[in-house]
This record gives sequence, C-alpha cells and structure tokens, in this order.
Amino acid sequence: MECDLDAVLFRHDTDGCDSAGHHVQYSPRVEGLAMVEWDGFPRRGRALSSIYDGLDRMTEEIAEHGVPFHTVTEWGDTFPWLFAGISHAGSDPDPFDLRLFDEPTSPRAPARWKDLLRASAFETIVHARQVHETRIVVHEQPGAGVLEAEGAADGHATADLGVLLAVTVADCVPIYLLDVDARAVALLHGGWRGIAAGILPRGITLLETRWGTDPRRLLVHLGPAICGACYEVGPEVFSALGAEVPSHSAPVDVRGVLAQQARAAGVPPESITVSGLCTLCGDGNLFSHRGGRSERQVAFLGIRP
Ligand SMILES: [Zn+2]
Repeated sequence: MECDLDAVLFRHDTDGCDSAGHHVQYSPRVEGLAMVEWDGFPRRGRALSSIYDGLDRMTEEIAEHGVPFHTVTEWGDTFPWLFAGISHAGSDPDPFDLRLFDEPTSPRAPARWKDLLRASAFETIVHARQVHETRIVVHEQPGAGVLEAEGAADGHATADLGVLLAVTVADCVPIYLLDVDARAVALLHGGWRGIAAGILPRGITLLETRWGTDPRRLLVHLGPAICGACYEVGPEVFSALGAEVPSHSAPVDVRGVLAQQARAAGVPPESITVSGLCTLCGDGNLFSHRGGRSERQVAFLGIRP
C-alpha cells in the first residue's frame, strides 16, 4: 500500500477543490497559505488556520538538472551542504513518475531513480516500501546506488554524507527534519494514518536519542502535500488525529496537525516552515492521488558528499 491517504468519502467537482455537501471557499491568502473556511464548520476552519500563526512559508523552487524537481531553496541557500527537494512531473509527455511498488507499475521508474541519483551527485539514495506506519530506518554506511531498505518503513534518518533519503508521495506530507548542530537529517512520509500514529514525534525522539538533537534547535519543513481546502475526510480521520470530530466528512489540514505536533514536541514555531504547494490545487506540477493520478513524486533530503 502506498500513499493513497484513505478511501474516504470524496467527490471531486470540476473546479478541483469543492466537494459535494460542504462548499469550500478560499479566504484571501494569508502569508501565501491558502486558508479555508467552509459552510457548516467555520469554527474548525478558523481553528486550523490559526495554527499557521507564526509559521514561515517556504516554497520549493523549480530546478532542472536532468531530472525535474523543486528544491527547498531557503534551506539550500542557508546550508550549502544540504540537498532538499521533491521531484515533479516535468514537461515530458511521459510524466516523471517514480512509483516502484504500486499497480500499475511504472517500467521507467527504476531508471529514473538512477537518473535522480546522478543528478543529485550523491553516492546513495535510500528508500523503502511505505505502509503508513511509523518505522524509521537509520542509515549508516549503506553502500552505493539506489537502495531499498529491508522491510517496510515510512521514514529514514542519517548523519552520513552522500546518503540521500527518499520517500514517495502524492498528497501525503513529506516531513523534512534538520539538526544543523549534529548535521543529521530525517525524512518522513506522513499520511493521516502515520501522522495519527505519531511518526513525527517518533522521528524527533529518534534524532534526540541518536544524535542528541535538541528539539528547540530542530528545523522542520512540511513539504508539498494536499492542502486543508482540498483534503476532505470522514469523521474517523478526525478521530484518529485527535481532532474535534465532525458529524460528517469535512476538510482537514494534515500539515496543520503536523505543525501542532512539532510544537508540542518542543520545536519553536519559527523553526517550522510549510510549503506553499498543494499537490491538488497548486501549480507545482505535482501528482495528486485525490486528483486521480496514480503516479508518485519523490521527496529527498540529504547531506551532500
Ligand atoms: Zn489544495
């Protein structure tokens, strides 16, 4: 099972963001983030919007280095030894699909992973079969090439140079964690199940245990994912996320939930950034499972060799 988020009630209107029963409206963008209010749940809408108070927006910029990807430019500019980003569909008629495990399979995906490795100039890319759980693999001297970790995992961490961590996504949140002091990184795959199961606090705890990370010094970036306006879910998802449970399906902002979790774990608000890109309604040329696409992009994070 890859990043299908969930088989929840959802009907997709032609404008791409409305869902039947609960009309979705965009309020004016606040600090670049599309905030949402909607009929029937205005209180929740405001509550979810308010969690972005104090958070910076950080949008990936398009880069072309043989393979199509966005880079997290603010991190890259500040830390030249870091490489962080996410692939996108590209301009080729055959979109740059990197899915390895889903049906239908993508026969060109293995070669594209190698292309991504070459473009990154890293020695290694590590990834794993993802199952919406919380196992995080620590990589130490894993060897060279495109390597699949043994066993399913939804997160990766390393302090090695030249090891590029990778998770596949298409609406789920790529969660980038950076400890500048220890020069350690972690990259997590956050669908609602994994978020509800606590993959983010687990990742922070792993960094603390392994590299002595102080959460007050940790940087967290929540990458391109389906936004709070586009992602309508059933009450069971709100329940799992520990949120106020509506009587019927309603939009939820999973990156907002993650930002709250990061704060609760001790990460200062000013150290948490949120991508301005939505996989469904954004203009990042990204695949969206909810948008009817079966392809996957790859988020990546690593310390340059
Ligand atoms: Zn959206």
